[in-house]
Amino acid sequence: MTPIGHLSVSYISGRSIRGISLPAIMIGGIVPDFDFLFFFFEWFNQVHRVISHNIFFIILVSFAASFVAKAGAKKAVGFSLFLGASLHLFIDSCMDINPTNGTGIALLWPLVDTSFSPFNLFHDSMNGPGWTEPLKMLRLMIPGLLYELPFYVLAFILLWKEKIIFQD
Ligand SMILES: [Zn+2]
Repeated sequence: MTPIGHLSVSYISGRSIRGISLPAIMIGGIVPDFDFLFFFFEWFNQVHRVISHNIFFIILVSFAASFVAKAGAKKAVGFSLFLGASLHLFIDSCMDINPTNGTGIALLWPLVDTSFSPFNLFHDSMNGPGWTEPLKMLRLMIPGLLYELPFYVLAFILLWKEKIIFQD
């Protein structure tokens, strides 16, 4: 899923659940893709969906966020960020067109290297060559955008209803 797709899912979830910190769940929704910082390194393909797509990374980031949050918001910030990041991990575990280092995510890394994927929405014929060939990978992402479209639409409707956009 693209970052916009992850942000849409986070926004919809944040608007649907009471007590959620919207900024924290939005950050949580994209924080696992922090590994894209290493995109231009030769070894990126080996670490993508591994070093920041595991339960320990998101627990650590959630604790760090709750630690720096202001008093009274610590629990909501930590939980919201964890929820956003958990949704990200679940989505990535079900939508993988780059199984070069295993299908899904390395949920228990660094304890276990095995990739976790309850199912993959993409057929094997859509498997890409990995991010060493970015243009092919981006082209393969296009059909996946159809899965994201309903989330874009719903997030857009919610934004509209909240009058966050289209204000007079
Ligand atoms: Zn991801």
